[in-house]
Amino acid sequence: MKFYDINTDFGRRKNFAYGITYNRDLMLRINCDKCGSKRYETFSDDESVKQTFMLTNNFFSDFMRTDLQRIILPRVNEIFTKEKISGYHICDNLEIITLDQIPEEKKKELRRRGYDVKRFSNEAPECYRFCVDGKAELHDKSEIITVSVCDKCSYVTRRTKDRPYVDPDHPLYITKSSWDGSDFFREKGSENRIFCTERVVEVFEKYKLTGLEFTEVEGL
Ligand SMILES: [Zn+2]
Repeated sequence: MKFYDINTDFGRRKNFAYGITYNRDLMLRINCDKCGSKRYETFSDDESVKQTFMLTNNFFSDFMRTDLQRIILPRVNEIFTKEKISGYHICDNLEIITLDQIPEEKKKELRRRGYDVKRFSNEAPECYRFCVDGKAELHDKSEIITVSVCDKCSYVTRRTKDRPYVDPDHPLYITKSSWDGSDFFREKGSENRIFCTERVVEVFEKYKLTGLEFTEVEGL
């Protein structure tokens, strides 16, 4: 069984659109005075909260990155359902705001934040939030150490052995016995990293889907 680490394909000759959160005030801003962590906490777990995005251009990939999660075009779900891909669900509590709907004040703010607003999309494709449900653990051979867990904000500080940070080039290994058998799965404990099986890669290539890149990781 082969496993793959999932990353974003940002597009080669042309950049794919990505979603910028419109209603950032709904994101939980954490500024912890105990561990110093400054971050936006995901609100993606709360599916009752409607999320609104702006897309950075009109070049849509099947999987699109947003600030905190991934969104997909409907055909991804149709294909995955047909091919019986497991370990995810979709949430349609989402809205895409087009360029002509963005108020001038907001456009100014976006320009200040460095965005090329005039290229933002004027289309609102039907999209879903893509939520991964499967779970597995990383094997110790991945050499990722949990340094601390903040008891105030629950921020987990981790690093690769002998490095001050989590080294993206250090190979990862999945503990096969901890894997729940899902085609899409998250790393238990971290939740950030998303992995998949060989089946997903096969289906992705068969239907020429776009927006993801895969790096093989070994199961032990
Ligand atoms: Zn903290």
